[in-house]
Amino acid sequence: MKKKSLETRKIDRFFKKMDGQGLALSYGDVRLRTGHSEILPREVNIESRFSRNIGLKIPIVSSPMDTVTEAKMAIAMAIAGGIGVVHKALTPKKQAAAIGKIKHYLNAFISDPICVNVFDSVSEVLKMKAEKDYKFYSFPVINEDGQVVGLVTRNDFDFSSSPTDMMGQIMSKEIIKADANTTMEGAYKMMMKTRKKILPIFNSNGSLKGIYTWADVKRIISGGSDIYNLDKNGSLIAVAAIGVGEDLEERMELLSREKVDAVVIDTAHGDSKAVIAAIKFCKKYHPEIDVIAGNISEADSARNLIKAGVDGLRVGQGPGSICTTRVIAGIGCPQVSAVYNCSKAARGSGVPVCADGGIEFSGDIPIALAAGAQNVMLGKMLAGTTEAPGVVIYKNGRPLKSYRGMGSLGAMLDNKSSRERYFQGEVTIDKLVPEGIEGEVDYRGDVDVILNQLVGGLRSGLGYVGAKDIADLQAKADFHKISGVGLKESHPHGLVSIKDAPNYRAEKFS
Ligand code: 5GP
Repeated sequence: MKKKSLETRKIDRFFKKMDGQGLALSYGDVRLRTGHSEILPREVNIESRFSRNIGLKIPIVSSPMDTVTEAKMAIAMAIAGGIGVVHKALTPKKQAAAIGKIKHYLNAFISDPICVNVFDSVSEVLKMKAEKDYKFYSFPVINEDGQVVGLVTRNDFDFSSSPTDMMGQIMSKEIIKADANTTMEGAYKMMMKTRKKILPIFNSNGSLKGIYTWADVKRIISGGSDIYNLDKNGSLIAVAAIGVGEDLEERMELLSREKVDAVVIDTAHGDSKAVIAAIKFCKKYHPEIDVIAGNISEADSARNLIKAGVDGLRVGQGPGSICTTRVIAGIGCPQVSAVYNCSKAARGSGVPVCADGGIEFSGDIPIALAAGAQNVMLGKMLAGTTEAPGVVIYKNGRPLKSYRGMGSLGAMLDNKSSRERYFQGEVTIDKLVPEGIEGEVDYRGDVDVILNQLVGGLRSGLGYVGAKDIADLQAKADFHKISGVGLKESHPHGLVSIKDAPNYRAEKFS
């Protein structure tokens, strides 16, 4: 019964017809048909999946590019309910530190807490905090035998009389001991009762299992973080991109120590021997970490990667705003058909598809999801935000931020991992064959403002189709194939000029 409903979607008939005409389509080629609706946009459920074991509160992911996602963006994305994939042009150590920063940003339960030593001075600990960019002040204090002998919190630092004071001098020795089975609710009650802002949890042999910290436990219990994308311990979901090069083993080891939730094998041609070997390596040695692999654009490629054991697929070869692969190498499939073909091949496998690249408007998101994706990955739309790496630059008074392809000449010259993404090794500048360009985008302010518009457009799309959630959208969706005239009609037209709207740029108007 389930199988039948999976195979008789309206969208299957639509794509069969298109296929019969030898047509592959992209976002500008289709619009969703409206349907009878009994649901309001604000009522639709847009929760989704990133990989077999990792969910999304909003189906939006930021791309692992050096002008889009480092820790700051990944934290903002997870707080908004999505995911940010930290790029791999960072050294393994720096990338692992970024993952650590995301994981330690909220501290509901920290299974591997940062401890300080009784002999560490206030200035040494503050220096370490600044170097690692940790925002918290609560640390268990351990003696030379590694036993917890006290706790320090922000007050202890604020009221210390000298930077040379040692942790052993300023710490509180009164430790409330909670056992390994303490739940978050239990921790909340104990902390309320004892008025302690840090609750260490001990294993039965007396070793430290982890700590609960007050602000985050309180926020979770009071529902203040319902939209946050959290792991089972209440920390933000953290995901990193990896390559297939020689540092794979070291990078995985360091990422795993920082408790990365998933890795994205980030290459331009995912259906390749090296990627399949990397998937198998990761699944064998780090089975607790979900593996998403790509990029692909054909159904057979999806099947090959699923067979190799992936937990998520990343679909898109050449649709990105900074990509030149289609014109340089002459390959690729327009994105909506690529997403449909790969998603259809993945149906029933439990492996979600990420529609990566080419999203220009919020309305492209319901189209990508209707075609079968579980989430979309964005580069350009997020590159102009405060949270993206890089500073705001002004050209003729216009605030801009840099945005470049990871296969652009600049990115390939700057880092080996970009050369690897395009399977180009140690070659000189004149031998590099770029598959991307470098440019600038308008500075757009904070990312949550952009996400709010994107989510609003997505909700509206589901409302028009009459879909209560993404699965319902996929079951009900049907497309119109539109002509160039239809696309022109879809955009504002016939005015002398238009003003920027929060979700539509005047420059798109012609
Ligand atoms: P956008 O959202 O800007 O349209 O597309 C972003 C996506 O483009 C990325 O997630 C990635 O898959 C892809 N991409 C990033 N850099 C390059 C590049 O230099 N060349 C190509 N072909 N694709 C790129």
